[in-house]
Amino acid sequence: MEIYPRLHWLSGGGNAYLAQDDDGFILVDTGMPGRIDIASYLAQLGHPPTAITHILVTHADIDHVGNLAAIQRQSGATVYASPASAELLIRGESPSHGNRLMKWIIDHFMRFESVAPEHIHVIGDGERLPILDGVQVIAAPGHTADQIVFFCKARGILFAGDALFTRNGLASSGKFLSADYEEGRRTALKLLPLSPAIFACGHGEPLQTHTDTDIMAFFNSLRDA
Ligand SMILES: [Zn+2]
Repeated sequence: MEIYPRLHWLSGGGNAYLAQDDDGFILVDTGMPGRIDIASYLAQLGHPPTAITHILVTHADIDHVGNLAAIQRQSGATVYASPASAELLIRGESPSHGNRLMKWIIDHFMRFESVAPEHIHVIGDGERLPILDGVQVIAAPGHTADQIVFFCKARGILFAGDALFTRNGLASSGKFLSADYEEGRRTALKLLPLSPAIFACGHGEPLQTHTDTDIMAFFNSLRDA
């Protein structure tokens, strides 16, 4: 559904976003395999899959890249990912979360269809992409080491992946889910001062009803933790 001007939210095991740009749609993450039908959603809006011009990947967890190979094939769009995510996408493997049980589950049950290297464009921290009025790439390690997030300052949107969660208010990636919890906390402290109008995270309903006071309270709780 359209949750913000020219921003659509799709949910299935994880969130995916379609942001409308001047000449097409930017897809951010893709959800669990088979749980989100991005092509059907676009068809309802009257667009073919080829209307997707770029696919941005926050990190290579299966609930973010589960439909990536399929929608890349349907759209022909280039995939934008961090160097570490790109390596994982090519192998069809999810990143480590530190926890050994989690790693075992991921390695045995959470493999996804890989993406050929020629479809991937590697991006890094501080880069500004010529889409969505100059979306900025920000390194966001902690939840996983490969994670990046995307900040669209002109529109006030932070595509935060799993650097921040909005399931029950705003939170950083929990200890069990984080490859490096302390690094994740530092990442959250780095992202909060961006003060976006909408937190478009990987899980939970996108947050846009927050106040500056809410953000400051959360910032202080993280800083003092
Ligand atoms: Zn994740």
